[in-house]
Amino acid sequence: MKQIQIAIDGPASSGKSTVAKIIAKDFDYTYLDTGAMYRAATYLALKNDLSAEKWSEIVALLDTYPVSFGRGKNGEQLVFVGDVDVTHPIRENEVTNNVSWVSAIPEVREKLVDLQQEIATQGGIVMDGRDIGTVVLPHAELKIFLVASVEERAQRRYKENLEKGIPTDLETLKKEISDRDYKDSHRSVSPLKPADDAIHFDTTGVGIVEVVNFIEEKAKKILDK
Ligand code: C5P
Repeated sequence: MKQIQIAIDGPASSGKSTVAKIIAKDFDYTYLDTGAMYRAATYLALKNDLSAEKWSEIVALLDTYPVSFGRGKNGEQLVFVGDVDVTHPIRENEVTNNVSWVSAIPEVREKLVDLQQEIATQGGIVMDGRDIGTVVLPHAELKIFLVASVEERAQRRYKENLEKGIPTDLETLKKEISDRDYKDSHRSVSPLKPADDAIHFDTTGVGIVEVVNFIEEKAKKILDK
């Protein structure tokens, strides 16, 4: 059966990973959370007290402790560096607030993009990130660019953090999200931006089901062609 590549890009907390996971499950495709890979690289850099000037050591660490994925007992996607499970630590504030400088290192991107492209050769895939439609999968049959207001994205992350028991201040969160958007969109390598052929969708005030339906309908049209 025909399988396609679905690229979902957008700024922090725009709902990419939530919808990407559902679509991958519905279509029985692989789901790849590329943000988790940059977070894993950031985890390695912080654990080893490395800063951006030490980029070659960060790249070497990615060779020694390659990023990989697994599945937990409850079906949850697990993230590993080497054989260390970093699924939860990579969501902590320290990683979130440092990921933009690590992801701006061209050599780190090169390594992780290679891995992302290799995973995409295995068949139908839903990949979410910042440069999927522009750099990683430029030939993806379906490219979606999700946006939402900073206010709404901060509220979403706030609720998620409360559920996970991570102490959070809403105003701080808004500032952190805006800062990360700025850094991710203004870096010189692979900045966050929509591909020319991406379909834009503003998820402000829109439920997950609606976003999923919108994307799945577009995908089905391509598959039916
Ligand atoms: O999607 P998530 O918020 O987990 O991504 C974490 C960070 O990883 C982003 O803020 C960005 O700096 C980086 N990233 C990237 N390219 C991607 C995916 C994520 O630079 N394809």
